[in-house]
Formats: sequence, structure tokens, C-alpha cells
Amino acid sequence: MTVYLAPWNLERNLMVEANRLYDEAGTFSCIERGDLVAVKLHVGELGNPNYVQPFFVHDIIRRVKEAGGKPFLTDSNTYYQAMRNNAYDHMTTALINGFNMAPFIVADGLKSENYRTLPTRGILGEIEVSGAIAEADAMIVITHDKGHELSGFGGAIKNLGMGCCPKAGKFRQHRTVGIEVDTSKCVGCGKCKEACPMNLPDLIEGKARNTSTLCMRCPICKSACPMEAISFTHQEDLCRALSSAAYGVLSTFKPNKVSYVSFARNITAFCDCLPMPGENVINDVGIFASNSPVSVDAAFLQSIDYKKLNNLSHVDCMLQLTEAKKIGIEGDLKPQIHKLS
Ligand code: SF4
Ligand code: SF4
Repeated sequence: MTVYLAPWNLERNLMVEANRLYDEAGTFSCIERGDLVAVKLHVGELGNPNYVQPFFVHDIIRRVKEAGGKPFLTDSNTYYQAMRNNAYDHMTTALINGFNMAPFIVADGLKSENYRTLPTRGILGEIEVSGAIAEADAMIVITHDKGHELSGFGGAIKNLGMGCCPKAGKFRQHRTVGIEVDTSKCVGCGKCKEACPMNLPDLIEGKARNTSTLCMRCPICKSACPMEAISFTHQEDLCRALSSAAYGVLSTFKPNKVSYVSFARNITAFCDCLPMPGENVINDVGIFASNSPVSVDAAFLQSIDYKKLNNLSHVDCMLQLTEAKKIGIEGDLKPQIHKLS
């Protein structure tokens, strides 16, 4: 299976290059006249500029319309408390960050109440899929490739698995991870509790203890702890959960109705959900296009030294891909990469 790559060549007009890429890859061939087309993206958290630039998205919207589709921008609310946690804040963030080129429909509704619970393959068994994604006729998945603290990296599979699910589905996936406090390091300062949106963990006899079923397994407390006393376990299960959720999301589309465009630039160690982006850890690569999430993610990993991301996150980036293949998501773990000349 071939993945197409427009290198991030600053000597060229990158919008022209992107359009050449879409033509070569057949990005919009998944669209039939009258289709309601979900253009899935991450509109960015306020303060972190590493989302895909609006002019690329503007052009994708134009091309969807040319292909006869009715495009709408979409994403699902976050399960953590920030500026994409409900539809009002999410839409406000989208507008501030420049995403006004098409209707922005928050896929899971005002307070994340619009979803379908569907059977899926793999570790989860079932998964909640956001309503507007489940109802769309076709989808263009726009991804910013970067590292991820818990899952190695965030690419197209993660954009499907986590990004197309409501809070309930995100919570289900994140709860596959365990959390531990090393009491020999904990000094009971309470900084973790101050930072935590759920007012966790409990402080008992001067030590943090986290046994709450409400804990979302977000990395906020870990980052806040000055003693590095908090760690996560079973991260491999989160990687498997992403693929399992992605399978459930894709099951709502007919075959060949989803296309992928991934922007591999501003590649940071951790994800775009943090308000502070952090340093780029890998050089810019370019824009990938494919009709498979496995292939497009594999092409990205093949093009970088992804062991660096493995070392930063302590989990193997390839696990999401091998699991996706294992449960039946089509794609190639070692795709041919056709680089535009
Ligand atoms: S992972 Fe940490 S910050 Fe997140 S909800 Fe649990 S205790 Fe709070
Ligand atoms: S921030 Fe770290 S050291 Fe302080 S109470 Fe929490 S776990 Fe213990």
C-alpha cells in the first residue's frame, strides 16, 4: 500500500504542494455527491500553536465541496477541564484559532451526551462513538503527528480512537492505564491534588493515595509532582485501546469512505492538548496522505527516529499499529512512501 508524502520544503508553495499530494493520493475520492463529510481535526488548545494551520483546512474544505460533499469541521469534547470541554468553549476555541471556514459541529454535543455505544474488536469490546461522526457519510481525518506521554505518539489511529469518541469513550480508554504513587518519594506536599481537576488523590497520613474510580488517568498530577512520585502503568493497554476504539469508529462508515491527511511538523514530545507546546524533538517531515490509518501512521514512524518518542514515553509507538492490524484495520506496517518530486 502506497502512502504519499509532500516534503516540508520551504522553497515551495506548500498549499500548491498539498493539492498535488491530494491529487496523487486520491484524498477526495471517498466523497460522493451530497455526502455529509466530517472533516475531523483538533482545533488546538489556547496557548499551543501546533495545530494544523487553518489555510490548509480551508483548502481541504474547498476540495470537499468541489467533490460534491457537504463538509463540516468536527471534533469531540475533551474529558479533561480545559477550553474544549463542552461545545460552547470548544466552538469559541475553534473560532479564536481561525477555524471559521465551515460549520463546526461538536460531534458529541453540548455536554458530550450525543453518542452511540457500539461493539468493537480488541481490548475494549464496546466503545462510545460521537453522534455526528457515526452519522456522517464520509470523513477526512486531518492529523498533526507528534509524541504522546502515554501512548508513544499521536497520529491518525489516535485521532480516530480518542478524537472521535465522547467523554465516556475517552474515559473508557484512559482507564486501561493504571496509576501508582511511590510513597517512599511522596512528601505529602499536595501539589498533585491542587493541579488535579477532580481534586485527587487523597492525602492520607501525609502521603498521596489514589484509589478513586473518578480518576481520569490524565498526566496532570504526574507533571505537577516535584518528587516524580507518580507514575502510570499498563500504557500498552492504552495503545491497544486506541486501536480498539478506532475500529469501532470506522465500523460506522461504509468501506473506502475515510481518507487521511497527516501533518508531520512541529513534532513535540507530548500532545497538543497541553497549553504549552514544549520543544520540537524531531525535524519537520511533511504532509502524508493515504486511505489507511495504519499505513499513514507507519509512514510517519518510518520517516523519523521514533525510538526517541519510545524513550520519552516509555512505550513502543508501533504497538498501536500492530494491534490495529491484528484486529482487522486494513493497512501496511511497512508501506511504500511515494515522495512528491
Ligand atoms: S490522573 Fe491525576 S490529575 Fe488526572 S484525574 Fe487522576 S489524579 Fe487527577
Ligand atoms: S505532588 Fe507528589 S510529592 Fe506532593 S503529595 Fe502529590 S505525589 Fe506526593
